[in-house]
Amino acid sequence: MRIDLHAHSSVSDGTDTPAELVAAAREAGLDAVAITDHDSTSGWTEAAEAARSLGVTLVPGMEVSCRTPEGISVHVLSYLHDPQHEGLLEEITKAKDARLSRAEHMVSLLAEDYPLSWDDVTHHVAPGATVGRPHIADALVAAGIVEDRTEAFATILSSRSRYFLQHYAPEPALAVELVRAAGGVPVFAHPVAEARGRTVGEGTYHDMIDAGLAGLEVYHRDNPEDRRPFLLELAEQNGLFVTGSSDYHGLGKVNRLGENTTSPEVLGEIERQARGAVVVRG
Ligand code: AMP
Ligand code: FE
Ligand code: FE
Ligand code: ZN
Repeated sequence: MRIDLHAHSSVSDGTDTPAELVAAAREAGLDAVAITDHDSTSGWTEAAEAARSLGVTLVPGMEVSCRTPEGISVHVLSYLHDPQHEGLLEEITKAKDARLSRAEHMVSLLAEDYPLSWDDVTHHVAPGATVGRPHIADALVAAGIVEDRTEAFATILSSRSRYFLQHYAPEPALAVELVRAAGGVPVFAHPVAEARGRTVGEGTYHDMIDAGLAGLEVYHRDNPEDRRPFLLELAEQNGLFVTGSSDYHGLGKVNRLGENTTSPEVLGEIERQARGAVVVRG
């Protein structure tokens, strides 16, 4: 069984539609894939239909944007939660709305120095999709200002850039609590992704564990090898399971489906803990 539990579609900042994502998973030889768009579950229905017709198992999920009081960005993956749960829905809607005004504001700052307009950006956002820096990157690429998303993130759109702005997002422990309240299974995504910006200290892990954290995404290309023993030990000591995933974004990132995988035992554990939605067997 080859299982990849972290992938994005055009419902957020991936370039494949939900159906194309499932087809790509099949093409990559995966038995199961999770659709985990940022702050949105709008892709679930289309992905489920594709999974049934293509014979791929789909794990409905989402990646919740969070921020610590010190301003460190944290992502919490949620698997199999109830997409209608009010408390969780309210927080992701707030974050999604804040992402939109933040992107508009970033573009207005960029427009002072580059030939770029908000219209150029919306061109790259599917209707209703969660807006992020990747969409601004696409507009910068189209305008010939950078070569690709990777270059945009290394330069103009980096979290250390003068054009970078933060957006509202719930604290990680609150997100974990809400995911559990919605019957979902919360996993800390790429916890030590240092290249993206500052990462959290042990206190945040313990706050998240106390709130009901279920697992750590250890095998992810953005977690440096030398930081993984720390994660494995923390998981062992606190009864957390460990996942591995690609964080596929279609053409938007070099990450390939199945480049890291999760064991069938862990997927079984996720299903046992989940109360809000079920896996779609293809
Ligand atoms: P945002 O959530 O708007 O701050 O943008 C961060 C998102 O951009 C992450 O969730 C990734 O999906 C994506 N991202 C981060 N780094 C890169 C990169 N080097 N190339 C392409 N996409 C990236
Ligand atoms: Fe993303
Ligand atoms: Fe993430
Ligand atoms: Zn992701």
